[in-house]
Amino acid sequence: MADVTQLIHDYLRHNKKFPHVFCAGCGHGIVLGSLIRSVHALGLPKDDVVLVAGIGCSGRMAVYVDFNTVHTTHGRALTFATGIKMANPKLKVICVMGDGDAMSIGGNHLIHAARRNIGVTALILNNQIYGMTGGQCSSATPQGDISMTTPFGSLEKAFDIVDMCKAAGASYVARGTSFHAIQLDRLISSAIMHPGFSVVEVFSPCPTQYGRKNKFRNAVDMYKWLKANTVKVETLKEPDQKPADGRIPIGVFRDVEEPGLEERYFELQRKLMGQNR
Ligand code: SF4
Ligand code: MG
Repeated sequence: MADVTQLIHDYLRHNKKFPHVFCAGCGHGIVLGSLIRSVHALGLPKDDVVLVAGIGCSGRMAVYVDFNTVHTTHGRALTFATGIKMANPKLKVICVMGDGDAMSIGGNHLIHAARRNIGVTALILNNQIYGMTGGQCSSATPQGDISMTTPFGSLEKAFDIVDMCKAAGASYVARGTSFHAIQLDRLISSAIMHPGFSVVEVFSPCPTQYGRKNKFRNAVDMYKWLKANTVKVETLKEPDQKPADGRIPIGVFRDVEEPGLEERYFELQRKLMGQNR
């Protein structure tokens, strides 16, 4: 297999879409690199991979890869991904969304994708803000944090994406960060190969909107914060335990083998066709 670094260099040389649009210090490029490394390490043919993107800075990821790509409407990426997977279950369908896209505007689709356990991988890039549109509060913005629409601090509690996806029925649920890139490769690779609905929440800093408003001096401060304020879930006594010091657990929170909706659907089809012969 060719060296992935060489492949990326060749691609950059011939592709006029680079340099990318992400701001300096943005975590999204790190997640994109992790996704490309994961697909490459798994040896998946590019034609068998579909990247479905929502709207927002994370949605730009679909522009920079040579998979099958669909750039969809705000909050609806999972509905497109569901249709693609049901039509052709052999495809590896990966859906990339931001926190505003997945949890606020598209929150309804997320819980139902989890409930159905459709065989799609959802990468939720959580920068705790609407980045592209200027820094509005999202449903993942922590209570008390400042945004364009909450200049005195948000009065609302943030969703816990991992807890919500587990409660709604997703069969693989993990959380990583843009700081922990090596761990992130493993989480994304496992999610892609998981048969049912797999979710990887990625804390991915937005130094431009969230960072500036919440008194991080620069992107480096944000990555240092991620390093100091995360804890590997396997070091906790109970996986559901929330550390008393407020650190964010990262790792795999659920990994159970359950057939995806598309498998159950085709099983039913086979059964009915057999009965009608
Ligand atoms: Fe990244 Fe934030 Fe810039 Fe968007 S606005 S590219 S999320 S740093
Ligand atoms: Mg966001």
